[in-house]
Amino acid sequence: MLAGPGGGGASTSSAESAAGGASTAPAVYGSLVTTFGCKFSCAYCLIPAYNQRQHRVKRGARIAEEMMRLNDEYGIRYFFGADDNFFNNKARTLEIVDTLAGAQINGVSLNDRRIQLG
Ligand code: SF4
Repeated sequence: MLAGPGGGGASTSSAESAAGGASTAPAVYGSLVTTFGCKFSCAYCLIPAYNQRQHRVKRGARIAEEMMRLNDEYGIRYFFGADDNFFNNKARTLEIVDTLAGAQINGVSLNDRRIQLG
């Protein structure tokens, strides 16, 4: 189990139920890595070299699977992902959005949840 910032567990469910649904515990976020590297080669930047000049991306199904797994195994309900290349490829962007809109976590559609991407 991942330890929370205060040493607590990843799940906030007990804190939420004790407070009548309003959690006083810090929210635990799952960090999602959706791309590695960059397709550009700015002279001052180390990211392309750090990633051996490769640019690899994850598809929507992989991202949704990682969210479901983090929720199943650690009870994580909030996710953070930074993707410098999110809008570089329109087809990929729409594929991720469509896949996440159709995905469910614990029977709850992500389409019914607030998702911020970018
Ligand atoms: S990550 Fe940003 S600064 Fe670095 S190579 Fe890519 S576009 Fe340039």
